[in-house]
Amino acid sequence: MYDVAIIGGGMAGMATAARLQAAGLATIVLEAHGQPGGCAGFYRRRGFSFDVGATTLVDFEPGGVGGELLETIGMPPINGEPLPGYQAWLPDRTVRLYRDRSAWIKERRKVFADSPAHQSFWKLLDRLANVFWQATRRGVKLPLRSLTDLTGACAALGWRNIHYGRFLNWTMGDALRSHGLRNDQSLVGLLAMLIEDTVHSTVDQAPLINSALGITIRGAGLSRASGGMRGFWQKFASHYRQIGGKLWVGCRVGKIAGSNGRFLIDTRRGIIQARQVVSAIPVELTTSLTRPAISRRLKRYLTRDAQARGGAGVVCLGVPEEEVAGQEFTHHQLMQDTSAPLGNGNNMFISVSAARDLESAPAGFRSVMISTHCDLQEWQELDAEAYHAKKTALGKRLVEFARRVYPNLATRPLVEEVGTPQTFERFTQRPLGAVGGVRLTLQNANQRAVPHDIGVPGLWLAGDTTWPGLGTVACVVSSRIVAEGVLRSARSGSRSKLISHSPARRSQYVFANDG
Ligand SMILES: Cc1cc2nc3c(=O)[nH]c(=O)nc-3n(C[C@H](O)[C@H](O)[C@H](O)COP(=O)(O)OP(=O)(O)OC[C@H]3O[C@@H](n4cnc5c(N)ncnc54)[C@H](O)[C@@H]3O)c2cc1C
Repeated sequence: MYDVAIIGGGMAGMATAARLQAAGLATIVLEAHGQPGGCAGFYRRRGFSFDVGATTLVDFEPGGVGGELLETIGMPPINGEPLPGYQAWLPDRTVRLYRDRSAWIKERRKVFADSPAHQSFWKLLDRLANVFWQATRRGVKLPLRSLTDLTGACAALGWRNIHYGRFLNWTMGDALRSHGLRNDQSLVGLLAMLIEDTVHSTVDQAPLINSALGITIRGAGLSRASGGMRGFWQKFASHYRQIGGKLWVGCRVGKIAGSNGRFLIDTRRGIIQARQVVSAIPVELTTSLTRPAISRRLKRYLTRDAQARGGAGVVCLGVPEEEVAGQEFTHHQLMQDTSAPLGNGNNMFISVSAARDLESAPAGFRSVMISTHCDLQEWQELDAEAYHAKKTALGKRLVEFARRVYPNLATRPLVEEVGTPQTFERFTQRPLGAVGGVRLTLQNANQRAVPHDIGVPGLWLAGDTTWPGLGTVACVVSSRIVAEGVLRSARSGSRSKLISHSPARRSQYVFANDG
């Protein structure tokens, strides 16, 4: 019997498992695909290694959210390329999004208007980002479910910063309007693109605090591991195994039965028994694996968020080095038309492997990953021909647009492959290929987010459909909250076992029976 079985070997599942294993529990990760990673996974083709979804790790340096994870599990820092920033390509201008704070302040003054209203707006965003990144690193936990959660959140925020809590009810649109900047097209265009990429939402719907954190992820530190996500997972999985964890890949879970202290997990390799279970798969999948009483607790979130799901399309290219020459940065965000809705190729992210990263691409070549968010509905119910045509058109659109940055891109590619929501559904099991959690709004974020503990003893939820939402950094945050809960519960379980086996308790029991 394992202490904890973790279902799903994506970022959330692996991070939770490693924390618990390092804390002394016996854990097993059950992963359906042939390797860990999920939406932050990878694949190999002709000597190239491609990231299928996430390409960058956020805040993985010492002291950061990911840094804390590595330190807790006793793993050395990840080798890779710390990104100095990336470049945003708006229809009428480009903006260098520097990681370095003073370079970024100089750049934004140069590129956008610098009125007192602009200065005050940026000051608010900087302050919110600062306060809430600190709170995140200190382990703030939402949604608040108890007085202990509330005092913990206040401590993480710092008593002096409690008043910033009032912005939990603001959207980014509210902040722009309060500064008279909602109609500043270039500024709103940049913010819209950064918000769409990080919280999947629009300026007028995205919660202000989540947006401020999303917009400033580069300030928290972005990096791409050597060998991309493949390099990351090779090291992470091997460390987890070294500390005694069990990772079973190709091991799809079909059902979770039993209860706290003795869960029975039906897998392709037989029944696994575990005292506690962490379901690190999308909430929708959890409901399909658990008994109706548990599914009912999650149903209201699924009904509420049914229309807030989205997918992604990606293009992976293996190209000669000269096709990506001439740029200061290896990462770019582009937007074509400020008046059209975002996603579906109107905005996209380009990630190019670092110059000397021979784990990602053979010498003289580079791996290029281009991604955009997309609607899910239009990828459903297509026959083979229609699907193929749509997939080809998506790939063409993304490559053509990426040529604004790299004019010769994909003229002589060694590899050129396109992934769609159907690809994500097939390889990550995500229903309809919905990725990245839900589009965040005031109605489903933070205090209204899916909690990690749904009131079923011994069963925990982690991953990007729980708080705080999408992204590897969010998954690491959820892994910390869940690991703390599991450990608390394991300790109280062993304490009660000790009490029931202590002589005093035993004699009481015998006495009662005798009576
Ligand atoms: C195109 C794209 C680009 C992105 N870019 C970035 C980025 O640059 N930086 C960033 O931080 N984030 C990025 N993200 C977001 C990030 O990848 C995800 O938020 C994160 O990886 C989700 O991890 P997870 O563990 O919650 O879920 P998943 O990654 O979905 O992991 C769940 C795992 O569970 C497994 N599973 C499902 N069902 C079962 C079952 N029944 N039995 C056993 N196993 C099962 C799946 O195979 C999967 O491996 C991107 C996402 C996409 C799609």
